[in-house]
Amino acid sequence: MIEGVTKSFHGTEVLKGVSLTVRHSEVVVIAGRSGSGKSTLLRCIDQLETIDGGKIVACGHLMGLREKNGRLVPLPDRLVAQQQRDLGMVFQNFNLFPHISVIDNITVAPIKIQKVPKAQAVEEAMALLERVGLPEKANAYPRQLSGGQQQRVAIARALAMKPKVMLFDEPTSALDPEMISEVLDVMVDLSHQGMTMIVVTHEMGFARAAADRVLLMHEGAIVEEAPPEAFFTAPKSEHTKAFLSKIL
Ligand code: ADP
Ligand code: MG
Repeated sequence: MIEGVTKSFHGTEVLKGVSLTVRHSEVVVIAGRSGSGKSTLLRCIDQLETIDGGKIVACGHLMGLREKNGRLVPLPDRLVAQQQRDLGMVFQNFNLFPHISVIDNITVAPIKIQKVPKAQAVEEAMALLERVGLPEKANAYPRQLSGGQQQRVAIARALAMKPKVMLFDEPTSALDPEMISEVLDVMVDLSHQGMTMIVVTHEMGFARAAADRVLLMHEGAIVEEAPPEAFFTAPKSEHTKAFLSKIL
């Protein structure tokens, strides 16, 4: 649950009181033109940015803050890291560790952070690679993979931490067109398995196939919120109409 979240950079308000409740197993797609605050919102949810106002409650935890002597104070880093484990984040540019193999990319956090025994971590990672269709790439290095394959490994890596919510920030916008569907297919599968997902994307095919709701962000605010069919066929906001006329 996101309530009245505000965030400024150097005096410019980038999020102007954003509120959004995402239910368990729901898939929410966020669209909006470049600079409208989509990445900042995801980064605030994942505590990669601290918010200026409002609050974010994820998986029952007030994110980034705790009460002390009747006041809300920032959480220590160790506890922030704990909260972040409930959230899996997938970025536009994959962000795999380049110097270690695919299997190590997936197992490093479970082994180091969650203290999962190595054999178990490897077994779970192989199951995830199976799920994203890349079991034969376990010992490859990221540079030996296509962009689409790297992004599928990045999704497997995020899933290895057993997150309760997955956040995707334009996961296919750095990919060549022929690789987009292999990544979207994995995401659609994930949605069918009941994962709660917030997906920033302009892939409206994905929105139609998997989203429960589609939102439009414009200048730091959510200006439209509707089920996919209504979003595409009967948008209310002028901003949505203008946005759709550019991408469809
Ligand atoms: P979107 O993801 O919708 O393209 P962003 O959330 O990345 O938008 O950015 C929203 C606005 O915030 C932009 O004007 C961007 O320049 C600004 N911004 C984002 N991150 C920072 C930052 N770390 N420092 C300063 N300005 C930032
Ligand atoms: Mg962005």
